Amino acid sequence: MPDSFDEDEFDPLDPDGEIDDTPTIACTRCGREWDLGYELDDLGIGNQAIEQFALDHKRHTGHYPDGVAPWLADCRNCPEGVERLSDEAARRWARTHARHTRHEVDVGRANEEESSIVDAPEE
Ligand SMILES: [Zn+2]
Ligand SMILES: [Zn+2]
Repeated sequence: MPDSFDEDEFDPLDPDGEIDDTPTIACTRCGREWDLGYELDDLGIGNQAIEQFALDHKRHTGHYPDGVAPWLADCRNCPEGVERLSDEAARRWARTHARHTRHEVDVGRANEEESSIVDAPEE
């Protein structure tokens, strides 16, 4: 299976179209709202800007802004774990970790109880 990125899942705005609305992102914990014009200039259009903003926000404040619920991959056997903004990225990490360590990894979305277990593939 090719390890492709998630581009296919996203529906980027028409690159030739005008951006009339600068996307905004809000954080109730900070009580602020930002427009993503800066990130858009820097990174181009689409989800990437929102993801980048969300990751930066987490890095600087310790939490994600509104509407962004990361996927968590959390090893049951050791303290390793990651947060990713896509299911696929979290699972990819979990599969790799399980493969190398034969640990079981919980993958689930922040704020949701449900999670699934990724364990080592049979070889
Ligand atoms: Zn915040
Ligand atoms: Zn582990």
